[in-house]
Amino acid sequence: MEKEKTKIYQKGEKVLNQKAREVPLDKIGEKKFQDIIKKLERVIFENDEALAAAAPQVGDPWRIFAVSEWALHPNEKKADFKNIVFINPKITKTSKETSLAPESCLSAPQYYGNVKRAQKVKVEAYDENGEKFRRGASGLLAQVIQHETDHLDGILFVDKLKSKS
Ligand SMILES: [Zn+2]
Repeated sequence: MEKEKTKIYQKGEKVLNQKAREVPLDKIGEKKFQDIIKKLERVIFENDEALAAAAPQVGDPWRIFAVSEWALHPNEKKADFKNIVFINPKITKTSKETSLAPESCLSAPQYYGNVKRAQKVKVEAYDENGEKFRRGASGLLAQVIQHETDHLDGILFVDKLKSKS
């Protein structure tokens, strides 16, 4: 029998509409949080089109998401890329320039449409080892980081659709 895929919570379920909690920094190494990170990586692995996943999507309302570095190389093979884990992420800067680009979401697979996002962001977060990092992102990666940060604030991209498909 084929192994069942990791459950992904769907639009309408409460966990997706609430503000996720900050992870206590001294607890990042604990099994509970490491298991959430593994679950997010599994979701990215199990769903061919998935670039990223946020903890509320797997039913854990904590401020954690993971993004595949595939987002930096969308024309290459996804399997070749690692994930970047963001814990307690904060977008510290957004560009004034925006772009309108199509998005989709594992928690709302029946929706597809254009969302206006900042073209560039700067973000601060902790990695899976509790090390603080800062990075800038543009293009697809910036878009994904904004989409995932929204998940941690209980916002789905469908709430922001400019045009229905
Ligand atoms: Zn999503």
